[in-house]
Amino acid sequence: MALTVKWDSGILIESGGERIIFDPRRHGRDCSHIFVTHAHLDHSRGLRFHDVEKSSTRETGEIASRYSRLTRWRPLSYGERVEVGGLEVEAHNAGHVLGSALYEVSTSDGRLLYTGDMQFRDTLTMKAAEPVDCDILVIEATFGSPFFKFPERGEIARDMVEWAFKTMRDGKIPTFRTDSLGNAQEIVKAFNMLTNLPVVVHRRIAEINQIYEDHGISLEFLISGSEEAKEVEASGECVFIIPKNLRVGDPRFKVALASGWSLLYGRRRGDSFPLSDHADFNQLIEFIEACKPKVVLTCFGGRFNRILAQQVEKRMSIEARPLDLIPTVFIRG
Ligand SMILES: [Zn+2]
Repeated sequence: MALTVKWDSGILIESGGERIIFDPRRHGRDCSHIFVTHAHLDHSRGLRFHDVEKSSTRETGEIASRYSRLTRWRPLSYGERVEVGGLEVEAHNAGHVLGSALYEVSTSDGRLLYTGDMQFRDTLTMKAAEPVDCDILVIEATFGSPFFKFPERGEIARDMVEWAFKTMRDGKIPTFRTDSLGNAQEIVKAFNMLTNLPVVVHRRIAEINQIYEDHGISLEFLISGSEEAKEVEASGECVFIIPKNLRVGDPRFKVALASGWSLLYGRRRGDSFPLSDHADFNQLIEFIEACKPKVVLTCFGGRFNRILAQQVEKRMSIEARPLDLIPTVFIRG
């Protein structure tokens, strides 16, 4: 028998006649179970497909169910195993956002680990991803080029705080535009820990903050539009956090982007900070080393899939390629 892995609008795994798919982007794939790694929309569409069994962590389900009701869904905890035919699937912490999971798949043909999006450093709100020994490692390549080297996180937080105070001295309200899930909670926590400034967040971010709080991660914030938020806004002594796709026309606010992609843009598109909930290139390499795989398959990185695979082959002498090129068949022995 063999363990086959291929890209089919998601990561499709086949072994002993059983087919399961991870993070599918399209409906209608022939499989018996969907596993979703985390609640970011580019990974969690499968939770909306009503005609198939699904699993994710409870936290991921809670965040995703703000938009649609979950059916035929089984919540998982880290360390819990699900049996699907002859396949055994176990969730581990991925360190990316609340509830994010790596999935380990054990079969009689070998062991596979799929990372989804991951982070390999402790952050203010998450613990670093947990490496797992495996035969095949399917790893995200979002920042899979050596170009992407994030500064130390404490340094980024201090830069953001410094920028916020300077912006207030200039008579403007400092405002961070960022991912509503992951980065937004990190910024709230950083300002809670490093300053006494009130933090005002957009309603969509507040909903997610509440789920973080429900799971034991304390965050102090005000909700934009509330009476308290209006008071601190009038005083000018506060920080705002808004979703990254929102544009602000009000000249009282000065906006900065917080995103790993700001390393690419530099300051050409205005003030920005390279805060990310992903592993950078060196962290990806460290994580691969820690998992000791025989084969590495890269995904979710666009053109960086190929670059990361080339770097893994060159630096580590491990067979590596982008997952979407051809199916990979692994035969034990
Ligand atoms: Zn993500």
